[in-house]
Amino acid sequence: MHPVLRLQNIEQAPPSYRNTLRDALRGGPRALSNLQTLERGLAGRAQPKHVLPVLYATLDPSPILDASSSDTPPPFPDSLLDRVLICIGILATMLEDSRVPSEAFSFIWPRLFDWVLFIENYHDSHPDLVGREVRRPFFVGFVMATAELVAHEPTRDMIEATPGFRTLIGRIWLSFPESWDDPDIPWHHLGILLMDNLLLQDPTNLRDFVAAFDGGESQLATFVIKHIAPASIEYVAPAMDVILKTQKNQRFMAILLDHGLIPALTRLVALYASQKDAVKYLVESFPPLSRPFEMPRALHWITQALKAGLLDAIVLAGTNYPNHAGTIEYLQWFLAHVLPRARVYLPAVVQISRTLEHAVSLAAALAFQKSLLFPAWKAFVAMAEDSLQYLAYYSRPDRPRSVQVCYNSQCLKVLPRKSTKRCPQCRLCHYCSEDCQRIDWLDGKHRRECGDLYSNRVASPDDLSARNRDFLRTIVEFEYMRDRGM
Ligand SMILES: [Zn+2]
Ligand SMILES: [Zn+2]
Repeated sequence: MHPVLRLQNIEQAPPSYRNTLRDALRGGPRALSNLQTLERGLAGRAQPKHVLPVLYATLDPSPILDASSSDTPPPFPDSLLDRVLICIGILATMLEDSRVPSEAFSFIWPRLFDWVLFIENYHDSHPDLVGREVRRPFFVGFVMATAELVAHEPTRDMIEATPGFRTLIGRIWLSFPESWDDPDIPWHHLGILLMDNLLLQDPTNLRDFVAAFDGGESQLATFVIKHIAPASIEYVAPAMDVILKTQKNQRFMAILLDHGLIPALTRLVALYASQKDAVKYLVESFPPLSRPFEMPRALHWITQALKAGLLDAIVLAGTNYPNHAGTIEYLQWFLAHVLPRARVYLPAVVQISRTLEHAVSLAAALAFQKSLLFPAWKAFVAMAEDSLQYLAYYSRPDRPRSVQVCYNSQCLKVLPRKSTKRCPQCRLCHYCSEDCQRIDWLDGKHRRECGDLYSNRVASPDDLSARNRDFLRTIVEFEYMRDRGM
């Protein structure tokens, strides 16, 4: 037994604590004030070994367990509640200053667990006797202590092996969704345990789970992105596996994407490129890209990934695993099928231009050049350099204007400027024919922008679709000119 717990015998405590301890343990009228004295003492110079026995005994739930075994248990007694809450507070304080050997907590934590389990059961049978305001402080204290212990060996094994723990932690998490954004509660250590319980044991848990709250999907998505994704690829992978395999969760997947899943995974791959299969998870988590291409959302996600450092992540993964078949295969696919689609999308090209130089310098490593990925990378860089030329041409104020590209995006025919038909209203948009003019007007694209162009208002910088169509026409024009040496 740990030496601290040998002090359980109250007579072994130092004389100055003896009465305090005795009273606290009895739960007499002065129990609460004595505990408060202990709490203050602890904040000063009191040794944890003098305090722990009191905590341990005070945290013993058996008196109230006996009282509650009748059909109609008494309301939760306030005096007892206060004592337990102070104990939890003291525990939390001690955890924070690491004044207590971690082994001691393997004795204290099960007591906390018993209490929370007891309170939840009490709540189930008599919700009117144990309200939300009673449960919440227990829950917060328990989660904080548990999260701390789960982060360390060997207490993690003890906690994970405790029967009923995962169910309990999942349940109390669900009961207090307002705490998920509480920066003081270190949820990320508990994330994998929650995901195990909620998702892995039974994927339908997720459906019940999100149905339990109004807007619960969005809250859960925030939780995954904020607390689980930044922690480790190991945490993300099992959750993603379940989400991707369950058709019913497509909508949830879309919400995750909207909440920034792709940047989170990209950063993980950059951080853990040396971790086996990290790349596989990133690529598999791009479901819209593995289906027929969905414009323009998929392009938007590629842009987000580029912004989060996708190019560097690719090079690092290829450098660290030059011959890892799975990683290389996924990356080759990415470089050959996904990224080339980004070359006509203005925000993606802008992002490529910002990160390419650094990625190319990383790619100079000998290990990367020997990698099976290198030919695919070189092909991508050639494509990217083309895109950068488009971008430079697009940004040139003195662009030659001898030719025009038909404004109908379905047509994009190039013809001498003199032979085009212009929009009679704005006189700025050129078409190869009246048919194309009508199509561009009817599908709403030009109808929306014509008035602004006519009144000489510059299209809003947020109007990406107009600018991107302009970029697309510029690419066509550039290639036409280049092919003819103009
Ligand atoms: Zn017009
Ligand atoms: Zn046309």
